[in-house]
Amino acid sequence: MHVDTLIRGGTVIDGSGAAAFAADVAITDGVLTAIGDLRDVTAGETIDATGRVVAPGFIDVHIHSEIAIADTTNPYRYGSVLQGVTTHLTAPDGFGWTHLSGDPARQLWDGLRFAYGEAPFPIGWPSAREYLAIFPGNTPVNVVPQVPHCAVRMAVLGWDTRAPDADELRRMEDLTREWLDAGAKCLNLGLDYQPSAFATTDELIALSRVAREYDGLYAAHVRYNGLGRAEAFRETWRIGEGADIPVHISHERIDAESAALFAEGEGRCDVSFESYLYPAGCTHLALMLPLWAQAGGPDATRERLRDPEARAAMRAVLDDKLNNDPMRARVVCVDDQTGTYVGREIQAMAEEEGIPFGELAIRILESEHPYALMVYHRRTTPESLREEITATLRHPRMMVASDGMYSGVSAHPRAYGCFAQAVRLGVREYGAISLETAIHRMSGYPAERFRIPRRGFLREGYGADVVILDAGTYADRATWEEPRLEPVGVDRVIVNGTTVVLAGTPTGTLPGRVIDCNASA
Ligand SMILES: [Zn+2]
Repeated sequence: MHVDTLIRGGTVIDGSGAAAFAADVAITDGVLTAIGDLRDVTAGETIDATGRVVAPGFIDVHIHSEIAIADTTNPYRYGSVLQGVTTHLTAPDGFGWTHLSGDPARQLWDGLRFAYGEAPFPIGWPSAREYLAIFPGNTPVNVVPQVPHCAVRMAVLGWDTRAPDADELRRMEDLTREWLDAGAKCLNLGLDYQPSAFATTDELIALSRVAREYDGLYAAHVRYNGLGRAEAFRETWRIGEGADIPVHISHERIDAESAALFAEGEGRCDVSFESYLYPAGCTHLALMLPLWAQAGGPDATRERLRDPEARAAMRAVLDDKLNNDPMRARVVCVDDQTGTYVGREIQAMAEEEGIPFGELAIRILESEHPYALMVYHRRTTPESLREEITATLRHPRMMVASDGMYSGVSAHPRAYGCFAQAVRLGVREYGAISLETAIHRMSGYPAERFRIPRRGFLREGYGADVVILDAGTYADRATWEEPRLEPVGVDRVIVNGTTVVLAGTPTGTLPGRVIDCNASA
């Protein structure tokens, strides 16, 4: 037998969670064609993987890369790929810009610019397929579409805060179906963000039923702001039951409260979640505002900041959260419009100036909204963090996903470090899980759960997305101070049979495809 590429002498971890085994791996025409003892096989290219782990390329189900990854001028676009990630899902938090044009497209882009930066393309695409056409030939990784609820709702209802009427709901169902026909399986939600924060549970059940027809699933950044964590989880279970659909909760972790909630959810529907495993979140500052202050999108919020009464009410809410909320022990600005606040902590700046925390936050909003991107450090200790990461990684319904962002001055280290940190901490330093389990949570489990066909496992007939890494040294280097330090320990990353990263450096090849999750086998 002659093949294109032969990876010889490595230790195969196949993505299923099963024990590692010694095997060679053959690739022809971008597909895994044989795995086993292949000593008699000849190859166009032979890669010596002696002493290395050969694993399926990782799959990131929640990553804000979709504009950066298609923008060949973006210097940060490889932050995820360098860790061995070979497939990115679009529309995390339901974000998207299809079926919009003109001012609504501009406004929605503004509202989400904290995660995507300056628009490198004309924004607004008339259809799902036209949007997905930006990827082939431009990206090193595969792209899996998801249904972006915020664009679906915006296209039908604009910034309205009301429920859709029957005709409007039918139009939203049609747009959802268009995405599913374009290859999506998952309806994705960001229920703290405008305009999705005003979606009703019935609307979400109705749209989930459309996804259910395609054997799809429902994934959400749940309604922390609108309902609080516990009730927001319970709304997700109601949607799972109401639409008879598997549900997935974005960027969560296991602590006493969530462990009980997930146990409750598992008794009611089919549940999973993802975690990036850092003790800090990252989003724009306006997300701390009450929903009435965010309603109508960024232009409306700016207008309210000019109204003294509304401004005072917003300041009071911000002040309370910055003083009392353990989720926001330290809030550090990592990107803004004017460069005034970058790298500085809100509470420290307020103390320096002798003004309340809320007043300082309002001043940032006045000069920077909607671009002020913040990192929200929770109150943790090294011991509590170790306990939390261990419990999270051991939860059978957990997968790793970064929530990474690839624009702006600075960011959160998860964009360059999430997957590598999961192995460094979870496997080597904490001994929480085996390397096989870690890789399952980063490849096979997300592929199965998000119904991505023929990806996520090293199996004959599957797409040749492969990472070759050194299990002893594979690690993140990104820190709070230097969030864009590249990971180490990755020899090679292969996408559809083509090497995209070699010895820690991008090769410049762009073999990524859009994966149609509804294509018949
Ligand atoms: Zn989110």
